Amino acid sequence: MQVPGGSAVAFPRQLGRAGAKPPRRRRLKRLHNRVSLGALFIAAAAPHRVPPQSMLCPRALALRLALLAALAPAPALADEAFQACLAQLRNTAPQKAVSAETFDRHTANLAPDLEVVALLDYQPEFRTPIWDYLAGLVDEERIADGLAMLEKWDSTLRAVDARFGVDPATVVAVWGVESNFGRNFGKRPLLRSLATLSCFGRRQTYFRGEFFTTLKILEEGHVDPAQLTGSWAGAFGHTQFMPSTFMRTAVDFDGDGRRDLVGSVPDALASTANYLAKAGWRSGEPWGMEVKLPSGFDPADTGRRNKRPVSEWAARGVTAIDGTPLAADGRRAGLLLPAGPQGPAFLVFRNFDAIFSYNAAESYALAIAHLSDRLRGGGPFATPWPTDDPGLGRAERRELQRLLAARGHEVGEIDGVIGAQTRAAILLEQERLGLPADGRAGGRLLEQLRAARPAPN
Ligand code: CA
Repeated sequence: MQVPGGSAVAFPRQLGRAGAKPPRRRRLKRLHNRVSLGALFIAAAAPHRVPPQSMLCPRALALRLALLAALAPAPALADEAFQACLAQLRNTAPQKAVSAETFDRHTANLAPDLEVVALLDYQPEFRTPIWDYLAGLVDEERIADGLAMLEKWDSTLRAVDARFGVDPATVVAVWGVESNFGRNFGKRPLLRSLATLSCFGRRQTYFRGEFFTTLKILEEGHVDPAQLTGSWAGAFGHTQFMPSTFMRTAVDFDGDGRRDLVGSVPDALASTANYLAKAGWRSGEPWGMEVKLPSGFDPADTGRRNKRPVSEWAARGVTAIDGTPLAADGRRAGLLLPAGPQGPAFLVFRNFDAIFSYNAAESYALAIAHLSDRLRGGGPFATPWPTDDPGLGRAERRELQRLLAARGHEVGEIDGVIGAQTRAAILLEQERLGLPADGRAGGRLLEQLRAARPAPN
């Protein structure tokens, strides 16, 4: 789950002139502005959405973090501003229905994490093609893991379906994409990230709300504070809910009186179903389906939001993927073309929008929708992506890392995550092989490195 709704970047007030040391209050204000300016320098001044971490280009990110470090105040000064801000926040705790005891217990020894301010304004330079994105999120490993989870949590998932009307495959697919079935919660201490974002950078009002909601969650004893880590923006647990989403939609399904999205799988599965139900999920209906376009199809009026009667799409020559006519049952659907009319095409119904609302990204929603189909026994998309350089699953990414390491490159841990080191190694190999040097981990590079591997003696 991401920070909802990007907003325009507000320019900071002009920096004070250098000279005599200003009063402490003004110095702190200036400090806030400097941090904002650092973040601004990092970001383009345009509205945007916070990208999922998996889409970040690590090299560009590292560069920008270094820039922030250069522009940001010395750590001691940032800490001074942070402590002053915390004291201010403490004064407003009673209005937020958080006790001073709770505030003090959970904010003692808190230091700012300025990296999260840079991440807030980060815009990726490296655009992940949709086929890479889906290849990593819906690979054989995640399908196998998802099938195992469907079996392991069968009775819980049936009970969740009975209460919320969301089927097991959909719930498990969300779980698999959001936290890899509980393996990736994010490592940043939640209160530290949210307190930092409450005090520095843009959108402080929003993050103050999330910060106090987190304190409320801890005060009510839902989650073990020692386990409360998450994404840089504050999404946490199996479901990667933001704290405010937790408050609105998390449920106690195992009956212990706590809504524990970190320690309880039943609570997490039920909370995911509750989220989708509140987002308008229609029980028993599909999210959508892959369809076939007639040759020369005009992509006008397509897109998820542009819902039209299925009969209208049929009249424009769209058929089921096997070429049979679409069932004109009065439903309305949008025609999604993630890679244009040359790639796979999908008619998407109301339930796709419910999945979309989880993360506000069509690629994410398509990954969840497709994974749910694969968990129901469906196959890969029938229409190939318009590329001759397909994306790699995580097992293939690990193989690529091993081949790069065998050629003497430093790639760090062989973990299937294309980080800064792996991308730098890919660039060098692409240049050596005369391939387009874009740092992308694709099928063509993998094939060439496989072929170049010396035969074992
Ligand atoms: Ca519980």
